[in-house]
Amino acid sequence: MRSVALPDGTKVPALGQGTWKLGEGERPARQEAAALRLGIELGLTLIDTAEMYGDGASEEVVAAAIAGLRDRVYLVTKAYPQNASRTGLPAACIRSLRRLKTDVIDLYLLHWRGGVPLAETVAAFEKLKAEGKIRQWGVSNLDQDDMEELLAVPGGGACTTNQVLYNPEYRGIEFDLLPWSETRLPLMAYSPVGQGGRLLRSPALRAVATRHGVTPAQVAIAWSLRHPGVISIPKSGSIDHVRENAAAAGLKLTPEDLAEIDRAYPPPRRKVALAML
Ligand code: NDP
Repeated sequence: MRSVALPDGTKVPALGQGTWKLGEGERPARQEAAALRLGIELGLTLIDTAEMYGDGASEEVVAAAIAGLRDRVYLVTKAYPQNASRTGLPAACIRSLRRLKTDVIDLYLLHWRGGVPLAETVAAFEKLKAEGKIRQWGVSNLDQDDMEELLAVPGGGACTTNQVLYNPEYRGIEFDLLPWSETRLPLMAYSPVGQGGRLLRSPALRAVATRHGVTPAQVAIAWSLRHPGVISIPKSGSIDHVRENAAAAGLKLTPEDLAEIDRAYPPPRRKVALAML
């Protein structure tokens, strides 16, 4: 498994696991936790969750999955923007720590930008870091202008990642945010398999998949991982899909494959405002 070095030198696997919709009854929670645990066994040890997901239910599934394995996992969770204040963030962090049944979050993200000034959120993150409740902090859904603003506030340079929507249907970041980030911090690609929707029925992805004897989901994951500074976090509550997704880390797309995907999903030629789900 290729790893990505975070700005503090910590190495994390380029392929991790998302958890949105886990704990919401789609499958028994025990089954979902078992899928995450299989992912950990297969090297997908970075797990992304959020207080928002299932109103904390996703964090509880993650807690069940990582019980006894905490030291092997790089744990990422996110706070609502309305909780990202001087007093709100520590309270949200403690609630997440309780649900996750751990005493430290490896990476705590601002889920998207809201009304709290970035400088106040950064100061609250840094305080949590100093207290040992989180190891690093980062953001999500920030476009380049927001990132420039963030990096200019006191302590803003400590931002560890920016988690953004990235798959062939949404590749606007390739115009600006991705090259800008390359020299500064890794990006974390969310919804890399297009939420299991029409992307996976795309004739282009299907054709590439057939050539390699793999699935369109594996092609989408390999596509997101073709940049060295990108971490990809597909979600699955299915043992079979987790196995399939993990195997995608070893898939190398050829220039011909990439050209075929470009024809179906052209790269951006101008600035596109950052899309988010
Ligand atoms: P994904 O692109 O990861 O797609 C997940 C969906 O695809 C699920 O329905 C899953 O179903 C299905 N799927 C997964 N693997 C396969 C496969 N091999 N074959 C077929 N279907 C598959 O979308 P998400 O939106 O979940 O994004 C990934 C993660 O990113 C989230 O779970 C979350 O952690 C994070 N995220 C962050 C956001 C943010 O604002 N910061 C916004 C959105 C997501 P099944 O469970 O049945 O496998």
